[in-house]
Amino acid sequence: MKNLSDEEKRVIIDKGTEAPFSGKFNDFYEKGIYLCKQCGVPLYNSNDKFKSGCGWPSFDNEIKDSVKKIPDKDGRRTEIVCANCGGHLGHIFIGEGFTHKNIRHCVNSISLDFKSDV
Ligand SMILES: [Zn+2]
Repeated sequence: MKNLSDEEKRVIIDKGTEAPFSGKFNDFYEKGIYLCKQCGVPLYNSNDKFKSGCGWPSFDNEIKDSVKKIPDKDGRRTEIVCANCGGHLGHIFIGEGFTHKNIRHCVNSISLDFKSDV
C-alpha cells in the first residue's frame, strides 16, 4: 500500500470529494488503464471512460470484480470503493442516460493512477 498525502487521505480514507473540474483525469482521454491510487490494482479501462461534463472522471463500466458498491451513509447514493483495499473512489449513478449502459461511475481523480498503453 502506498503512503498517501493528506489530500489523498481526505478523499480515499475519509471519503471526501475533490472539487469538480479540478482533478487531473477529468479532461483526460489517453488510452490505458486506471489503477487504484492506494493499492495499485486495475479498476477502469480508458475505453469505458466518457465525457459527462459533471466535473469528475466518468466511466460506464469497471474492470470485472474490481469495484465494490455499497450504500452511502447519506442514505441516498451508492458509494464505490476499491474491492481490494476499500479505498473510496466516488459514487455510482444509474439511469442518467449518458451512455447506452446508462451507468456513471463518478470517480475522484485523486483516487486513481493511470498507466498508459504503450
Ligand atoms: Zn485499492
